[in-house]
Amino acid sequence: MTVFSSRQTEKLVTDKPTRLHRSVASSETAREINRDILLQTIHRHQPVSRADLARLTGLRASTVSVIIGHLIEQGWVLPGSLGHLPRGRRPTFVALNDKHVSLAIDLRPDHANLAVVDINGKILSRNTIPFSAPKGSRTEARKAIVKIARSARSLRAASRGRIFQGVGVSVSGRVDQTTHRMLFSANAPWAQIDLHKELSAVLQTPIEMENAANACLFAERWFGGFGDASNMIAISVSEGIGAGLLVDGRLLRGRDDMAGEFGHMPYDDRGPACGCGNTGCWETFASNRAGLRYYRELVPESRLASFQELLDRAAAGEIQALRAIDKMTAALARGLTMLSAGLAPEVIIIVGDCTALWSRICPVLESQLIAKSFTAHTPRVVPALEGDAARLRGAAALVLHKVLFRRAELE
Ligand SMILES: [Zn+2]
Repeated sequence: MTVFSSRQTEKLVTDKPTRLHRSVASSETAREINRDILLQTIHRHQPVSRADLARLTGLRASTVSVIIGHLIEQGWVLPGSLGHLPRGRRPTFVALNDKHVSLAIDLRPDHANLAVVDINGKILSRNTIPFSAPKGSRTEARKAIVKIARSARSLRAASRGRIFQGVGVSVSGRVDQTTHRMLFSANAPWAQIDLHKELSAVLQTPIEMENAANACLFAERWFGGFGDASNMIAISVSEGIGAGLLVDGRLLRGRDDMAGEFGHMPYDDRGPACGCGNTGCWETFASNRAGLRYYRELVPESRLASFQELLDRAAAGEIQALRAIDKMTAALARGLTMLSAGLAPEVIIIVGDCTALWSRICPVLESQLIAKSFTAHTPRVVPALEGDAARLRGAAALVLHKVLFRRAELE
């Protein structure tokens, strides 16, 4: 049995396969990485023949055949239709077995989104559970967990015939990947309880839990169009701001898994108090909460209840709402220029409700990144696909990532 450390299992492989193939030390690790590359390639090109897989990955045809044989045996891949070629043998195409699904849970401070997501990232069913924000009360947090579990059971019961691989949870805070404890959650209440333990107990199944921005990077690897990028930043803009950082093909963890809290970099000391205890952090200027505050400053008598309402008003052309969004976007852009200068990403993915107004915010982000760039290269800025579905796909990707690697350990 090959035992991989948690650091190894978290490696995100996005380099060119041939380079990776040379860089790995043991044959077990090489096989694992090659299988991972094949699964990604099948996902992108399915239905696809073994010969094309060899061509697309640069792996030997015999290696492809052995690994595909294992994947078919294990039920991850299905042999499909016969291909058509001008002459010679007709190849059998293979495709991912979309009977494999995960239950994805995206935890927000005042609601949870749940979904059944298949191996191709397709959302098959979903549900939203609102609860009163349980700040300061363990009892309220536990009540919320019971509600989530009830919804999870009904989604599962309605998905008969599917093979559940596990439960993935994305949260706004940082999660220690050894103890699974929430380490830091400036805007959400979950740090007061052992969320991982209590949620696993109520759902009666092991769960994978990860910071939402990191989860979105996993989603890009599995389901997105930037699987080849080695340097990528996912910025989650919601109640606060968090970042997931892919640097030279690796997810950056930092000490205690705390890397990525750019929302708390000092932005302007004269700014508002932040949930972290400091004042004037970037997220107090560029998060959804900041957008709401800007609107209330412009329209003090307003009774705006949610960021969604602000977006709706902006989309309807209300001038104050548009001004509030523009001010938030300007602060977002300024922070992104700092990250871009420091980390040299190829792609920046914006995850958040604000992407609903992409045609308005994108030009501001792009123009600032170009204006402040001191090299010929500026990163592409893209919205995560389908708004809030990105965090659900991220939660599902956590399960796929973990399950496939765990299978490798048990062989
Ligand atoms: Zn802060």
